[in-house]
Amino acid sequence: MNLMYRSTRDSNQRVTASQAILQGLSSDGGLFVPESIPVFTKTMKELAGLDYRGLAYEVMKLFLTDYTQDELMDCINKAYDDKFDTPEIAPLKEAGQAYYLELFHGATIAFKDMALSILPHLLTKAAQKNNVQEEIVILTATSGDTGKAALSGFADVKGTKIIVFYPKDGVSVVQEKQMVTQKGDNTSVIAIRGNFDDAQTGVKEMFNNRELAARLKNSGYLFSSANSINIGRLIPQIVYYVYSYVCLYKKKLISEGEKINVVVPTGNFGNILAAYYAKELGIPIGKLICASNENKVLFDFFQTGRYDRNRDFILTESPSMDILVSSNLERLIYHIADQDSEKTNQFMKALASNGTYEITESMKAKLSDFVGGWASEAETREAIYKEYQQNGYVIDTHTAVAASVYSGYSKNTQDSTPAVIVSTASPYKFADSVLGALKIESIPTDDYEQAKLLQKVSDTKIPKAVEELRTAPVLHNRVCAIHEMQSVVEDILKII
Ligand SMILES: *Cc1c(COP(=O)(O)O)cnc(C)c1O
Repeated sequence: MNLMYRSTRDSNQRVTASQAILQGLSSDGGLFVPESIPVFTKTMKELAGLDYRGLAYEVMKLFLTDYTQDELMDCINKAYDDKFDTPEIAPLKEAGQAYYLELFHGATIAFKDMALSILPHLLTKAAQKNNVQEEIVILTATSGDTGKAALSGFADVKGTKIIVFYPKDGVSVVQEKQMVTQKGDNTSVIAIRGNFDDAQTGVKEMFNNRELAARLKNSGYLFSSANSINIGRLIPQIVYYVYSYVCLYKKKLISEGEKINVVVPTGNFGNILAAYYAKELGIPIGKLICASNENKVLFDFFQTGRYDRNRDFILTESPSMDILVSSNLERLIYHIADQDSEKTNQFMKALASNGTYEITESMKAKLSDFVGGWASEAETREAIYKEYQQNGYVIDTHTAVAASVYSGYSKNTQDSTPAVIVSTASPYKFADSVLGALKIESIPTDDYEQAKLLQKVSDTKIPKAVEELRTAPVLHNRVCAIHEMQSVVEDILKII
């Protein structure tokens, strides 16, 4: 029997896993959620013999039931290979009172690689399984990180093309360099003369353009998205929570069944939702500690039960967490509303029209495993400094938000449960901010010089992704106006 997926906003929308991956978002605007959460039956002894790929198979087969064993193994082997700079894929490092789960060893040195390395393969298999004849065209607007991780995941994947638009003056120097040097015959990167919202709007318009869709189909193409609400990006993330538990068990740092807490630097609520699913699967996770930066919508939500996006958007040094609408929270809302799609729909409508909604007392009671916390910019910098002073370990600004929140949590609660802090980016990705937080004087302006300095300070190797940027030739130099986005796409795909 296949595990089916339903939309959070309309229970009549019911699809298989591969269909949910193909569609991304349900046509009613809702997100796909598994109809029931499977239960993990393997013992720790059995799991202890498996490596990352082996565990990935054990977890993903429970959720993606309409994929065969061969199909899933093939996706896993293509994703978690030597693109990662360590065979462990997600190493667990002890520092001070906690364990850091390093999710930045992939191609773009941030945790989005964990899911975007496998999504292209899940997607092309999904197309085959559902007799989609067309070539899949991934169309993405990016403010920086997602674009590069998606480009890198889809580069040279047969049966796909990827087109990324970014705001010419709206991304960092390193982010732009990373994108315009992207290899792969099936990749296109275009700067637009506009901001991120313009890029996003342009892409959405193309998705909703029926006339364009018809012409695309005639030319043998189908648009799809690599958006973070796709279950094909969510489910691969459950794996690393299982993996970190198994690692702690194997190293005899915990005994079977002993609880661990997890601390997750959060933006769109995807990563921590994967931890929630890992817990529901039966992995002994105690508290799910949700760490926010100064854009602390989620902290306020866990305090009060009221989600309120009506506030100023604050630009912080942990930019990947600068977000006021955490899309994946909708899935949690649906689960704590006892899978009531009508109720969920009402909350989301209120959010869209007034920017706010308030959950009921009984829903709130089901959030007792979650702890919300937040860190100011000063506290974040302090966490980087302290971790380095005390343990010689250098963390990035996003991870530091989580480290700061965890340290506050420990002080307040005296909870001594072993904790895993999720480390979402390499400090090399945010070298400027990290060196600043370490109170290093005279930081060079050149990004490679900064990397060299960070190498000296942290005694770690400069990641390949940074090393390569130095000499990588620019392969994409297209710039267009906002109103030209569609004609650029037509030109790239040579459709008439
Ligand atoms: C995307 C991102 C986050 C936030 O993850 P969500 O799944 O959106 O909550 C945190 N840190 C880094 C470095 C990221 O790139």
